[in-house]
Amino acid sequence: MTLTEEFDATLTDAERAMIAKARSFAERVVAPNAKAWEYARKHPTDAIRQACAEGLHLIELEKRFGGEALSFSCKMRVCEEVARHDFAFAFSLVNVHNSMARFARDAHPQMVERLLPRMLKGELIGSPGLTEPWAGSDFAAIRTTATKVAGGWELNGAKAWITNSAVCGLALVYAQTDASKGWRGIAGFMVEADRPGFIREAPFELHGGHAIGAAGFRLEKYVAPDEAMTAKPGEAFKMALSGINGARTYVAAMCCGMLESSIAVATKYGSERTLFGGTVMDLQGVRWKLVDAANDLEAMRALTYRAARIIDAKGDAQEAAAHAKKFSGDKTIQHIANCIQAMGANGLRADYPLVRHMSGAKIASYTDGTTEIQNERLGRVLIDRHGKA
Ligand SMILES: Cc1cc2nc3c(=O)[nH]c(=O)nc-3n(C[C@H](O)[C@H](O)[C@H](O)COP(=O)(O)OP(=O)(O)OC[C@H]3O[C@@H](n4cnc5c(N)ncnc54)[C@H](O)[C@@H]3O)c2cc1C
Repeated sequence: MTLTEEFDATLTDAERAMIAKARSFAERVVAPNAKAWEYARKHPTDAIRQACAEGLHLIELEKRFGGEALSFSCKMRVCEEVARHDFAFAFSLVNVHNSMARFARDAHPQMVERLLPRMLKGELIGSPGLTEPWAGSDFAAIRTTATKVAGGWELNGAKAWITNSAVCGLALVYAQTDASKGWRGIAGFMVEADRPGFIREAPFELHGGHAIGAAGFRLEKYVAPDEAMTAKPGEAFKMALSGINGARTYVAAMCCGMLESSIAVATKYGSERTLFGGTVMDLQGVRWKLVDAANDLEAMRALTYRAARIIDAKGDAQEAAAHAKKFSGDKTIQHIANCIQAMGANGLRADYPLVRHMSGAKIASYTDGTTEIQNERLGRVLIDRHGKA
């Protein structure tokens, strides 16, 4: 039994059915189209809507809103299955999922009643808006301002690198209400893209990640009604970071999916490619490189699945998630490069997914806290555990 089969055996029948549905969708829709999406250099909105029509955005959404209320572990495994074929699509889809679940949970009931039906159909796509052109890792340094006006808040500023922003209809925007208060001044607002003052910018040219639909937008005298504030100053910063361990864990799972795919493709190719009277896989030097990759993939999964279990048990997953994301990100980049090398020049061709996976792995080293930010977190754990008398 593989580690993944062992893990899935601990989930419920409904969760295993959801994972099987995601696997089938990824094989039918993502695998045959991922290359074309990359070449078209645009967000695959129709395929995202098809994923919604098949219910892949309902995993964690509460039942009272029409969701399936399944576990984080289930979502993490869905991410792994989809990223096996394309990281960018998986990342876009999980953000559609998360934006809707968060909107339903936190937004004003009237807003939920008005907009949730369109989100459930995949018509209205959501985005999480933290990063700005001048503030990424240092989230507390955001410069988008929220100024109180009659009946609402006027928002001014710019966001950058926002997933799905190329097509989003709704963004959860974090803005500073009082710069003198630092992170305690930040509040969260649901911003509607069809209201005056929301100005969408052209999507970023992004190697290997067009399906993410990453772009920026500006807010110029955008007035958010009072009820659009979903997190008050003092709460928003903590709320923004509350989902971060989950995000780090599912990104680690996406790395597992991409590395497994790369090992499988390189092994199959190397078993068929003949040279010097044998196959590439007969060459011990090449074979051992792929074994090293498989060895680290086992360790990546052990770390990632452990973090997921802690999240579902509502434990403190900060350390486990940081270990999973750092290790998985670093190892995936290193080993996909070796898988490409094992295939000779053919490994570079777009007919194979390896270079696209390599870009996905590099993108994964930035999203939801860079590798260096994981080091910072783990460094603090070391000092707390061993550095004090
Ligand atoms: C494809 C993609 C999609 C994204 N989607 C979203 C999204 O949906 N919503 C959103 O809000 N953001 C999103 N982001 C932004 C992402 O969260 C940021 O890229 C990330 O937080 C890093 O910020 P930065 O790129 O501005 O780098 P910076 O913060 O400018 O960092 C520059 C370098 O300094 C390093 N560094 C920073 N702080 C430290 C430190 N304390 N110690 C050591 N080194 C440090 C960083 O690791 C990095 O190598 C996305 C990014 C990408 C690439």
